[in-house]
Amino acid sequence: MSILRVEPLTTARALRGPFDYRQPAAMDELEVGSVVRVPFGPRRLLGVVVELAEVSDLPPERLAEPIEALEAGAPAELVELGLWVAREYCSTPSRGLQLVLPPGTGTGGRTVRSKRELRAEILPAGEAALSGGERLGVKQRAALEALSAGEMSAPELAAAVGADRAALRRLETRGLIASRSSRLRRAPGASGLRAPAKRPDLLPEQKDAVAAITQALDGRRAENGPISPGIGPSAPSFLLHGVTGSGKTEVYLAAVEAALERGRGAIVLVPEIGLAPQAVARFRARLGDRFAVLHSALSAGERYDEWRRLRSGEASVCVGPRSAVFAPVRDLGLIVIDEEHDASYKQEGDPSYDARTVARKRAADSGAVLVAGTATPRPESWLELPRLELPNRVDGRRLPPVNLVDMREADPRSGPLHPDTWEALDAVRAAGAKAIVMINRRGFAPWLTCRSCGHHWGCPNCDVSLIIHRHSGRLVCHHCAHIEAAPRACPQCASTTLSQAGAGTERVEQLLAERLAPMPVFRLDSDTAAARGAHASILAQFGEAASGVLVGTQMVAKGHDFPEVTLSAILDADATLRFPDFRAEERTFAMVAQLAGRSGRGEAGGEVIVQTLAPGSASIEHASRHDSAGFLAGELERRRLLRYPPFSHLVRVNLSGEHEPKLESAALALATELRRALPSDSDLLGPAPMFRVRNRHRRRLMIKAADRERTVTAVRTVVERRAADRSLRELAIGVDVDPQ
Ligand code: ADP
Ligand code: ZN
Ligand code: ZN
Repeated sequence: MSILRVEPLTTARALRGPFDYRQPAAMDELEVGSVVRVPFGPRRLLGVVVELAEVSDLPPERLAEPIEALEAGAPAELVELGLWVAREYCSTPSRGLQLVLPPGTGTGGRTVRSKRELRAEILPAGEAALSGGERLGVKQRAALEALSAGEMSAPELAAAVGADRAALRRLETRGLIASRSSRLRRAPGASGLRAPAKRPDLLPEQKDAVAAITQALDGRRAENGPISPGIGPSAPSFLLHGVTGSGKTEVYLAAVEAALERGRGAIVLVPEIGLAPQAVARFRARLGDRFAVLHSALSAGERYDEWRRLRSGEASVCVGPRSAVFAPVRDLGLIVIDEEHDASYKQEGDPSYDARTVARKRAADSGAVLVAGTATPRPESWLELPRLELPNRVDGRRLPPVNLVDMREADPRSGPLHPDTWEALDAVRAAGAKAIVMINRRGFAPWLTCRSCGHHWGCPNCDVSLIIHRHSGRLVCHHCAHIEAAPRACPQCASTTLSQAGAGTERVEQLLAERLAPMPVFRLDSDTAAARGAHASILAQFGEAASGVLVGTQMVAKGHDFPEVTLSAILDADATLRFPDFRAEERTFAMVAQLAGRSGRGEAGGEVIVQTLAPGSASIEHASRHDSAGFLAGELERRRLLRYPPFSHLVRVNLSGEHEPKLESAALALATELRRALPSDSDLLGPAPMFRVRNRHRRRLMIKAADRERTVTAVRTVVERRAADRSLRELAIGVDVDPQ
């Protein structure tokens, strides 16, 4: 007898498998990774086969059999990876497995399947019947005539000659045609951005980088990989360090082609895919049929079919955002992480995995080479990975000069743009060129108050201020779904003199349009890019315009390349510095440097303006000199002194609940329990209060650990015990390993 060990797909933390089932003789194709529907008490659940065994601890009569097997399951090595993620990020096996299953294999609802269609072709007997004047109905004859020109699908036949399924069946019974059900591919549409398929001759530095990667590919499990905590010796890994426009994407493409030549597949991770339509278009153009793309903006059917194409080996390169690290690419030879500093590689929900860490684990397990590329490396990559340098822009142009504009001296009444910035924009208009303006807040203005009584509009559910969205005439909370109509008068004193303060993308858009007309202004933020395809289409419009300004949030700093841009300006460079977070400097540096990279890509050269209240901060100062090595040296020294990553590991425990005193005492109790369980060389800070969101009060515990594995294990054990405690049921406890 064969036993299937099945992990149920459920959201309940307490329900933990695997559970044993008997393998029915009729389901002998089941293997590790198969998805089955199983009886579970009175219910039916989906589950994943995580192990095959000969014997069970349970007596045979207590073993049930699966009811059915779904069409597709995950490969065995990905089942292992999913379970590893669950352990490493203190999540449940079910949530870990969910990441590696075919898209649409939900815990509830309908599961996605292949779409099939009936296709018919004419047989020799059919040809003979047509010419031999055999007795045929009108529709039957029309169908045979249509098919004599070539194979057709049932819907096509119905549309062409009105032959329905019954007519086809009769023809088939008479042996005149053959029909088969064939899988239909739901193919994701291209973005409309065109990219050249031509392969340029690589520059010497690019060649060197590709050679190093190729050598590592040929060496398979080379010994030179760094040792990573929780992962062990990793596969050969590289940091491809090059300013924007230095030809990194060409190196990725050549490396992918080298992997394909060796019969191996590749995964290319890009920041949230909406943000990189140009990169995706380039990969699609170069790789043709072997290219697959996986991301959340695809329909469920498209995602499922792309996944199946990878699983079957029909496609062997997957491009996608963080979740593509779980793509079922066969014989994986290469993982590329583009813009490796990007925060979107960290998942916010449970499991809060970091795709960069998972990529290292997966590369190590499959003997694949890892290439992380960026202009602004993370301190951890700078410290740990051997570097491949692309020091110059491909076109030989120098990086644009960066002018720091000190906003402390500016008159606050003159608005969000400094006179110097206006002057530079006027010059862009005069020259018929293009500019990019970035402000890190969407909406019109972040602050609405009553002039007479001082009433301030805040979110009723969160301790934050409501943001004015003038375009939709609403006040919106950016932390929860709260929306209300923009007021005409104060609810406290009925005064109609309300004052708006601060600026967001909508306001800057308006100011620019007023002053720079008739130059067109395009706004790109998550409001204008919400519709499917809107992101790419806004970029395309900006690209096609003769001249113009692109204004928006961080989105405008990513994943595009417009040679006519001669000015980029960032209006609130230090907004990120105000967050109380050890990564604030790193993030600010990356943001300023990335935006700087968008300017001066063409013959007209370019410049960058950085408006800041903190011109002396290390991140802004180094970014203005395009000096990542200098910044990283200082930043690593600071982290070493403060014992922050990469010199320690952080684990955060987040608690939230509606009842504040209960939350507070639970947080204190959890902190005490954790202090007892943690290894002695780790420190626990907190509980610290966080601002209320969605009517939930929040507390945070932060653990600085030297020994990652022992710390994670201790936290997991304690949190699981607490999660099972019924008296704490209304509290939510989440663990974030390596928080961002
Ligand atoms: P990055 O990814 O570092 O920003 P890209 O690979 O996008 O750089 O290259 C910037 C531009 O230079 C692109 O338009 C690309 O097609 C072009 N390019 C890259 N490498 C070469 C090369 N060896 N010869 C000519 N053009 C190149
Ligand atoms: Zn008032
Ligand atoms: Zn809110």
